[in-house]
Amino acid sequence: MRDTTASLGLYGLGVMGSALALNILERGFPLHVANRTASKVPGFLQEAGPLGSRAIGHESLAAMAAAMPAPRAIILMVDAGPAVDQAIDALLPHLRPGDTVVDCGNADFHDTRRRAAEIEARGLNYLGVGVSGGEEGARHGPAIMAGGRIEAWEHLAPVFEAIAAKYEGQPCAALMGPDGAGHFVKTVHNGIEYADMQLIAEVYGLMRYGMGQAPAGIGEVFARWDQGRLKSYLVEITAAVLRAVDPATGGPVVDVIEDRAGQKGTGRWTVVEALALGQSASTIEAAVGARGWSAEKETRAAGEAILGSPRGPVQVSEGDLEGALLAGRIIAYAQGFRILLAASENYVWGLDQARVAETWRAGCIIRSALLGDIAAAFRGEMPMGQLVLAPAFAADLRASLPALRRVVAAAALGGHPVPALSAALAFADTFAQGRGTTDLIQGQRDYFGRHGFVRLDTGAVHQHGPWAG
Ligand code: NAP
Repeated sequence: MRDTTASLGLYGLGVMGSALALNILERGFPLHVANRTASKVPGFLQEAGPLGSRAIGHESLAAMAAAMPAPRAIILMVDAGPAVDQAIDALLPHLRPGDTVVDCGNADFHDTRRRAAEIEARGLNYLGVGVSGGEEGARHGPAIMAGGRIEAWEHLAPVFEAIAAKYEGQPCAALMGPDGAGHFVKTVHNGIEYADMQLIAEVYGLMRYGMGQAPAGIGEVFARWDQGRLKSYLVEITAAVLRAVDPATGGPVVDVIEDRAGQKGTGRWTVVEALALGQSASTIEAAVGARGWSAEKETRAAGEAILGSPRGPVQVSEGDLEGALLAGRIIAYAQGFRILLAASENYVWGLDQARVAETWRAGCIIRSALLGDIAAAFRGEMPMGQLVLAPAFAADLRASLPALRRVVAAAALGGHPVPALSAALAFADTFAQGRGTTDLIQGQRDYFGRHGFVRLDTGAVHQHGPWAG
């Protein structure tokens, strides 16, 4: 049995909480557990089997806190939002200075900043911890992105490092910065995840509906790509999903799945925060928007009848599709890391981008072969702090952007929507032009609002055009 300086408790035995609790117990830490619906606790202890001997079940959160010896560390794994505030309210009368509240759900980082300030003001510790990897990750090794005070992190680091995924022996668990930093990094992780999934789905759509290939064959292609530069968890599971056969119909499983996706908010938060920070995560935004459009299935069906589907054949090579996906993925990561930099500057978090990339190398959904190179790029030369300008990635993009351009052009001509691939190409083309077209926008703004502009020839500011009469 392992020892920590704090007694550990976990509240919320849903999908993630149960899996995380079993992981903690398996690593040798004794654990107190409770759940809002108390009747789930005995079921959990039974499911835990021999591991359950190290777990102590309680009737309620308050009863658990009261029974735990100080100093306590209580992990909340409940729905993000009011459930976390309610749990904190129930806990506070039982906590003493030195105790730590740990929110491991997908909290909005603004909430985490507020809660951290309120709880730290009472002499308690607060950690906002992003946990990625789904149920499987939580059970056997997630990526862990923490935010809070260093003393609070160091207190619990042995637990988090023990339960985290390992990359070449190194735990994928780190303190990202103060208060909301961990939940913000998790939010951007999810934004990149949305983009990567959408890019993959667009490439699949071209092969399926533009090139007439069967799902199983497309799955084989993804499995091959998973051996190369695109190696990643998402490409690996794409191959598995496309090759799966539905026992009821004998056909591909993907053909019996409704094309309507849900979202819980983290993708949208990434886009909202990007815009608030003066950034545009256009590839991520395209993916979030595409999920929104997917939910409007009835409207799409009506649109197909009224507008007529333009979908026709597409001719692109497998190599071009692979290159397009690689370019899109690099740009999605680059936009995500650019938001992290902007947030770090705005909230004074001191985020270490290389460390973020390293934390994402195992356990999380966006783990991929690129992340080691991304970490190296952040430790090396990075013109203007833009990942796409780092020498290794600039070389990758110079090689793969022609493929992305051919794929987007073929998709447009064939009537196939590729919003994320198109957004990625527009981003790359924008940042490959020293002179854009905003001169005209500035002229328009000055015309109607006398906003003024900078003259290129003299450098003079607050200049006006001759249109004002
Ligand atoms: P889940 O299976 O639906 O479980 C939800 C848990 O929250 C249950 O224990 C539930 O208690 C509890 N709960 C809900 N409302 C509550 C309230 N008002 N007061 C007290 N407890 C309440 O959800 P989950 O997938 O485990 O997700 C838990 C957290 O992890 C969420 O923040 C989620 O975003 C995050 N997360 C999920 C994943 C994933 O892949 N699922 C990955 C990373 C992070 P009852 O049993 O009484 O209903």
